Amino acid sequence: MKCRKCCQKAIINMRQHRLAMCKEHFLDWVPEQVERFIHKYQMFSRQEQILIAVSGGKDSLALWDILFRLGFESDGLYIGLGIDEGIHYSEKSGQLAEAFANTRKLRLLTVNMRDEYGETIPQIADRTTRGQGKPCSVCGLSKRYIMNRIARQGGYHVLATGHNLDDEVAVLFGNTLNWEVSFMSRQSPVLEANHPGLVRKVKPLFRFSEREVAAYALLRGIDYIYEECPHAVGSKSIFYKEILNRMEEKRPGSKLIFYLSFLKAKENGLFANHAQEQVLSLNTCSSCGQPTTASGECSFCRIMLKQ
Ligand code: SF4
Ligand code: ZN
Ligand code: ZN
Repeated sequence: MKCRKCCQKAIINMRQHRLAMCKEHFLDWVPEQVERFIHKYQMFSRQEQILIAVSGGKDSLALWDILFRLGFESDGLYIGLGIDEGIHYSEKSGQLAEAFANTRKLRLLTVNMRDEYGETIPQIADRTTRGQGKPCSVCGLSKRYIMNRIARQGGYHVLATGHNLDDEVAVLFGNTLNWEVSFMSRQSPVLEANHPGLVRKVKPLFRFSEREVAAYALLRGIDYIYEECPHAVGSKSIFYKEILNRMEEKRPGSKLIFYLSFLKAKENGLFANHAQEQVLSLNTCSSCGQPTTASGECSFCRIMLKQ
C-alpha cells in the first residue's frame, strides 16, 4: 500500500476515506483536517481562549498537541478523580498530563477531588445512591460540573474535549436504541453556551476514528496512559463500540455515515422542538449558581451536600 501523496510505503490505510498515507503525510494531514473542521463547524476563532479537558489519554493529549501546533491559545484542565485502586489510574494519568504540559511549556490547571472536595470519586460513589455499583454516573456529572466551573471562572470562551468518532457514534447508537430524543437533541460537535453561566463545548476530533487518533498519538511520540479506567470494563459504551466495529469491518465508513446523517437530520430540524425545551428548562442552582436542569440545587451540589 502506497501513500496517496508521495507514493512511499503507507503506514496507515483509512478504508472509510479510501486513503493510505506514510507517517510524514499522516502527521500533516490530521492537523490540517482538524483546522478544517474547526472552521467548518465554527468551533472557535484564533482570538478565543480555549480550555482543553485533559485526561492523560491519547485523545485529549493528541487534541492538545494538534491545537498547539496549529497555534491556538489553549490551556489544559486535569481533574484528579482519585481512582487509584489497582493500576493507579489517576496517579499515572495525572503524571502523564503534567509531563506533556511541562515539556511543551503549556499551562495545565489541576483540580484534585480529594484536595478540593475532601473525597475521591469512588468515595462519593460509595456513599450515594446514584453511585451504587458503578462510579461512572457520579464521575460524569462531577467532571461536567468542574469543567464548566473552571472554564467560566478562568474566562475561557470554549471548552474542548477529545471525543472521537467512535465515542460519539457509541453514544448516538445507545440513544437511538432507547430512542432518547432529548439526549439526541443535545448531542453535537458544538454545544453553544445558550444560557448564562454555560461555556461553549466543542469536540474537534469528532470526525476521526479511535484508530486514527491512536495512530496520531503513537507516531507523534506522545506518552499517554494506555490503560482504560478500571471502571470502564464491561460498560455499555465499550459493548456498543465492539458492535459498531464489526459493522465497520464489513462496511467501511458506516460509523461516519451514521453520525453525519444524524447531524444532517438535526440541521433539518428533526429535533428542533426538543432543543428549544432544553434551553427553556435550564435553571440556576440555588447553592452554587451554576446552570442546572434541576429546580433548587444542581445534581453536583446535591451529591456533595447529602451525607
Ligand atoms: Fe469516570 Fe467511569 Fe470514565 Fe472511569 S470509566 S473515568 S469512573 S466515567
Ligand atoms: Zn507520503
Ligand atoms: Zn450547584
